[in-house]
Amino acid sequence: MKYDVVVIGSGPGGYVGAIRAAQLGLKVALIEKYSTLGGTCLNVGCIPSKALLDSSEHYHNAVHQFSQHGIETGKVKVNLNTMIDRKNEVVNQTCKGVEFLMKKNKIDVFTGHGSFIDKNRILIDSGTEKKEIETDKVIIATGSKPVTPAMFNYDKQRVITSTEALNIRTIPSKLVVVGGGVIGLELGSVFARLGTAVEVVEFMDKILPTMDDDCTRELTRSLKKLGIKFHLGHAVTGVNATKKSCIVSVKKKDSDTAFDIDADYCLVAIGRKPYTDGLNLEAIGLATDAKGSIAVNDHLETAVPGVFAIGDIVRGPMLAHKAEEEGVYVAEYIAGGKPHINYNLIPGVVYTWPELSTVGKTEAELKAENIPYKVGKFPFKALGRARASMDTEGLVKVLAHQDTDEILGVHMVGPRVADVIMEAVALMEFRASAEDLTRICHPHPTFTEALKEAALAATDNRAIHI
Ligand code: FAD
Ligand code: NAD
Repeated sequence: MKYDVVVIGSGPGGYVGAIRAAQLGLKVALIEKYSTLGGTCLNVGCIPSKALLDSSEHYHNAVHQFSQHGIETGKVKVNLNTMIDRKNEVVNQTCKGVEFLMKKNKIDVFTGHGSFIDKNRILIDSGTEKKEIETDKVIIATGSKPVTPAMFNYDKQRVITSTEALNIRTIPSKLVVVGGGVIGLELGSVFARLGTAVEVVEFMDKILPTMDDDCTRELTRSLKKLGIKFHLGHAVTGVNATKKSCIVSVKKKDSDTAFDIDADYCLVAIGRKPYTDGLNLEAIGLATDAKGSIAVNDHLETAVPGVFAIGDIVRGPMLAHKAEEEGVYVAEYIAGGKPHINYNLIPGVVYTWPELSTVGKTEAELKAENIPYKVGKFPFKALGRARASMDTEGLVKVLAHQDTDEILGVHMVGPRVADVIMEAVALMEFRASAEDLTRICHPHPTFTEALKEAALAATDNRAIHI
């Protein structure tokens, strides 16, 4: 069988690209080395982590908030086995959904490891059988894996990554998280809410180092209240694990201060690296760069014409929605379209509570680029909706051009800001001004009013409720 497009990897980049290509009338094959479709995102990433974040948030609210709402529960207990089983069921259903979509779109799915024989022939090795398929175009969507330097002694038992952390079935007494990034804070929150003593060791002087300072300061305060202890500006110098626990050696940056932390687990969450193992890129004359990424041009085409690469394997943020957009882009480009991705407007969300969301430029970036800007801020404690739900931590910050008033960046920490950010993304796509935002009627009472108030604050300091 000869295909128009073969996609290697079934994550959000690969499966979405495959569907779009099929919608456009192309004959498509999708190769996945694991038995379930959906990649990191559906199996061991976005979906399972959010399932556990939701469950642990319910428990935390039941223990700490219900009584203030006048709801008496008696003693609330966690059954972590049930929580993990529910998470697995959510993953299972979501992955099955992708299988259904492949059938619906008449995409041939091959289970096995894909590798290049040449740019038009792909070998699929299932372990028991080898098969070769021919294709006109190839989309590489093989994703990423956690970074686990040798000094951490990653053993998948006591020294773990997010993949193993999502399947712990006994609540740990103590967890050390290395890396105050997105994974560290999300999974650290899950366990802190369940009662684990969580300590985060972060090399930089703040959590989420590239994000807005006001937002990360607010979030640090909230996470400390949850009980998470932070060692900012500290590095892990080694980890020694036994069968039942581990000792994490920590050293303060630019200082002789050093100490050990005993814990049940050490979660290594210091970033992810592109995954190209066994693709046999050499067969088509392709090499990866120093970071392990595959270089692509503006059309996501590699140096080999007809071979494209998308998602975590190429430059840009390692986010599922970015991978999806790139899958759609390449499918449409191959089909002769003229698609477009606005890389300045890829929103980022951290699913802690309060949530953190961000789009566009930060103040640090605007300063570095010498762009004159004005700032409007609004705290959630001044918002009726937030007081009603007792979610008063956090703020919204709007950055607009000093002269043109165009919205250049929006950063938020607060309740449901993962959803509220989309209003800012949509407006920025149409290059709205802060004043445009203020002239839109927002439903009352909603969390979205905080965004309007921050835009009012950026427009001649005329917020109404502060
Ligand atoms: P992947 O999803 O990694 O998929 C690649 C697929 O290719 C895998 O299934 C792999 O088995 C397969 N593969 C690799 N090599 C071969 C081969 N040679 N042959 C056949 N198959 C192969 N992002 C968000 O936007 N929001 C979130 O909330 C979020 N939460 C996350 C939580 C965690 C714990 C983690 C780890 C990640 C999270 N991410 C989140 C990031 C997100 O999962 C990734 O950005 C996204 O999955 C990248 O998609 P992809 O298609 O590029 O690759
Ligand atoms: P990250 O890049 O978000 O954070 C890694 C953190 O570890 C950084 O703060 C970094 O300064 C720190 N660090 C690096 N080396 C260190 C060391 N030796 N000691 C101490 N700290 C160190 O990476 P991550 O949290 O592993 O997440 C990986 C990717 O997955 C990210 O790109 C992220 O976009 C994606 N992801 C996204 C979501 C989401 O969108 N909600 C959730 C989880 C993961």
